[in-house]
Amino acid sequence: MTNSDNDTIAAVATPPGRGGIAIVRVSGALVGNIASALFGNIPRARTATFVHVRDDAEQPLDDGLALYFPAPHSFTGEDVLELHGHGGPVIADMVLERVLQLGARQAEPGEFSQRAFLNDKMDLAQAEALADLIDSGSKQAARAALRSLRGEFSERVNELSQEIVRLRTFVEAAIDFPEEELDVLADEKIVVQLDEIAMQLAEIRQRAQQGCLLRDGMTVVIAGKPNAGKSSLLNRLAGYDAAIVTHIPGTTRDVVRERITVDGLPLHVLDTAGLTDATDVVEKEGVRRARDAMASADRILLVVDTVDTAEDTADNAAAEFGDMPVTVIRNKIDLSGEPAGIENESMPPVIRISAKTGTGLNELRRHLKECVGFQAAGTGTLSARRRHVQALDIVDGHVKEARHQLVKNAAGELMAEELRLAHRALGEITGEFTTEDLLSSIFSTFCIGK
Ligand code: GDP
Repeated sequence: MTNSDNDTIAAVATPPGRGGIAIVRVSGALVGNIASALFGNIPRARTATFVHVRDDAEQPLDDGLALYFPAPHSFTGEDVLELHGHGGPVIADMVLERVLQLGARQAEPGEFSQRAFLNDKMDLAQAEALADLIDSGSKQAARAALRSLRGEFSERVNELSQEIVRLRTFVEAAIDFPEEELDVLADEKIVVQLDEIAMQLAEIRQRAQQGCLLRDGMTVVIAGKPNAGKSSLLNRLAGYDAAIVTHIPGTTRDVVRERITVDGLPLHVLDTAGLTDATDVVEKEGVRRARDAMASADRILLVVDTVDTAEDTADNAAAEFGDMPVTVIRNKIDLSGEPAGIENESMPPVIRISAKTGTGLNELRRHLKECVGFQAAGTGTLSARRRHVQALDIVDGHVKEARHQLVKNAAGELMAEELRLAHRALGEITGEFTTEDLLSSIFSTFCIGK
């Protein structure tokens, strides 16, 4: 049997484990029947109703609250039933099992949200913002995600789409009357409109890029000899911000990652402790992975101990990294007496700090943010994903080409075609134009029950 969009789906919507409440969520045409079988009636719409849930032998399963949202005024747009029961994994599973017995099937990850999208309850960018809100790693990211979830990002994208379509329609109408076409294309107003579109686009791109950084952050590799102060630096970076330091376990020979947040910018910090003296096969694999990680790093911080490392030693060491983005961190200046500060102009840049006292750390933080063009999230940041930023880049290319076709070639038809492509790329953000593959790649990363 293949899964169908017509099936009634069900899942435990709360995280596994013990807690105050566990919620079983059901969506689809069978919701009414399932409610009647579970507790003898269909509860009043949108009202919390205390119910006794029973199994197939009429024996009590759990007591709790039932919430019924008839279609189309529900999260998915279908009939939805939420059963709020006692928060234990076994009891929640028993209720879910009973619901499945009554004809529902287990929901796939993200399937509730996918139905909400398919039933026009939200667009694709909003559905993605929903997942990003749940996954957000900082307050700033959560706020940006909520803004996008409420439709601010989609609204901006749709406004821009409308402008583009309006201009295209105008140009296409002119093309239909060749004797008028040249006059129309020579009209300054069209260039002005195109420039306005470009400005609007630039603003959305900027906000989306910040949102993407808030979500994905930057990857920083801290490299250097043992005892240079790499761990102290990491702790300083993390502790100062009272950031959450999580240690994501791999095997000891894998690349170790920490995630910290600097002013809302997530930093994925990779420890390269395993880089030296690899002898056996597994260790060599670890080193290979560490090198891979370095190759894709946004910034490598090469930490040297100023007590025993001369200036040119650092330069030589940095030269090892070729054209990778390296910053030399001259640490322990409280011991060596070197003056604190940053040399931005030098290649590679050098920052003098003391991981022990914290001197120079602000410069380092500012430097890291500058490297990726991050501004502390203001009220305007919208959560966005790489896919959205890429689509906006494509739109930008088409808008520029449209202007070129107009100004340089007075080619109305080619200009209209560029505008059509720009509109299409925008539509991929909100899901106006989409493919099965894109949808499944997006929704399959959601959690079950969402
Ligand atoms: P790692 O091996 O590179 O991770 O180095 P650690 O962070 O473990 O530091 C090695 C030693 O140097 C520890 O005893 C630290 O307390 C000390 N250390 C690190 N940074 C500084 C610094 O800025 N000033 C001073 N005085 N000691 C430091």
